[in-house]
Amino acid sequence: MPISKYSANIQNLIDKAKGGKDLHREDIIKLLKIPADFSPYLFAAADRVRHEQVGDEIYLRGIIEFSNYCERNCLYCGLRKSNSSLSRYRMSEDEIIATAKKIKQTGVPTVVLQSGEDSFYSQDIVCRLIERIRKETDLIITLSIGERALNDYKAFQQAGANRYLLKHETASRELYKYLRPGSDWENRLQCLRSLKHLGFETGTGNMVGLPGQTPEILADDLLVMKLLDADMLGIGPFIAHPGTPLAGLENDDLEITLRVLAVARLLTRNTNIPATTALATLHPQGRLQALQAGANVVMPDFTPEIYKSRYDIYPGRKDVGEASEIISHLERDFQTIGRTMLYSVGNRPIENYNGIRH
Ligand code: SAM
Ligand code: SF4
Repeated sequence: MPISKYSANIQNLIDKAKGGKDLHREDIIKLLKIPADFSPYLFAAADRVRHEQVGDEIYLRGIIEFSNYCERNCLYCGLRKSNSSLSRYRMSEDEIIATAKKIKQTGVPTVVLQSGEDSFYSQDIVCRLIERIRKETDLIITLSIGERALNDYKAFQQAGANRYLLKHETASRELYKYLRPGSDWENRLQCLRSLKHLGFETGTGNMVGLPGQTPEILADDLLVMKLLDADMLGIGPFIAHPGTPLAGLENDDLEITLRVLAVARLLTRNTNIPATTALATLHPQGRLQALQAGANVVMPDFTPEIYKSRYDIYPGRKDVGEASEIISHLERDFQTIGRTMLYSVGNRPIENYNGIRH
C-alpha cells in the first residue's frame, strides 16, 4: 500500500476512535503497531478524549503500602514469598491510621491501602481498619490486597470500603499461569466481576513489557478492561527485579506502555487512569508523558520512610520523601504541562460516551 494511503488509514482510525467509534481487536492491534511517527497523533487524540471526558485536573490518591508479606510467588514481583533477602514488615493498625491522617492533612481525599497477599490481616482486622479510617479521617478507601473470598469483599464493603484495585495483569491465560504459579486466571476474573457486582469502583490493569507478550495479548488486555467495564485502569511497565526469576529481563520501552494507555483512554472514555509510579521509575518524564497521553490520576506514595524502601516490588521506585514534599514536587511537575491538582474524590463520571463530561 502506498505510504500516503497507509498514513491516511491510520489517521482515520485514530480520528474515529477519538470520536467514540468502538474499536475491534484488529483496530487495537493496528494502533499498538503504528509507526513511531504516528505516536504524537495517537497521544494527542487520547489527551483530547481525557480532556472532554474527565477534565484537565489531576486527581490524587494517597497510597499506604502497609505490609510487604506475601503468600504468592509471582515471578515478576520482589515481594514474592521466595525472596528471602527482603526484610519484611507489617504496619500496626495505629501506624496505618496515623499515616491516613497525614494524607488527610495534605488535602488528598482518598487513600489506597495496598499489600502483598497477607492473611495476617484477617477479615476482622481489615474491617476494623476500614471503619477506623472512615470514622477518624472520612477518607474514601481503596483496597488493593489481592484475591480474597467473596465474603471478605462483602464485609469490606459493609465496613465502608469504596474501591478495589486488582489488576488482571495479563489477558493471556498461559502467560498468567507461568507468571503466577498456583493462581488461576478465571478466579482473578471472577473476583473482579464480584467486586464490580457488589458496587465497588473497580480497577483492573496490566503490566506492559512482560516476557512473551505480543501486541495481540495487549489488545486482549484492553478488551478485558473494556468488557469488565472497569472504572480505573492501572497500566504500567514491567520492571525486572534482581531478586526474582525474571531478573535481567530489561524493559526500557516507555513508548509501548504509553500506547496501551492511550488506546485504553480511547476505548474506555471516562475511566480514571493513573500515570503509574512504574512509569515514573522507567523514565524521568514517564509520568508527565502519560498525563499527556490519556492519564488523569497520580498516586503518590505516603508509606512511612522506614518502610517505603522495603516495599520493593521493583527497583528504583519514585516518590521518596515526606508527604508535603511529594505533593509540592508533583505540583511543580504538573505546572510544567499546564495542569493542576484537584483535591476531590474523583469518582468515575456517569457514563457519557461521545459527549462532554457532566
Ligand atoms: N498483592 C496485590 C496484587 O498482586 O494484586 C497488590 C500488591 S502488588 C505489589 C501491586 C501491583 O504491582 C501488581 O498488580 C503488579 O501489576 C505490580 N507489580 C508487581 N511486580 C512488578 C514489576 N516487577 N514491575 C511492574 N509492576 C509490578
Ligand atoms: Fe504478592 Fe501481589 Fe507481588 Fe504477586 S504481585 S507476589 S500477589 S504482592
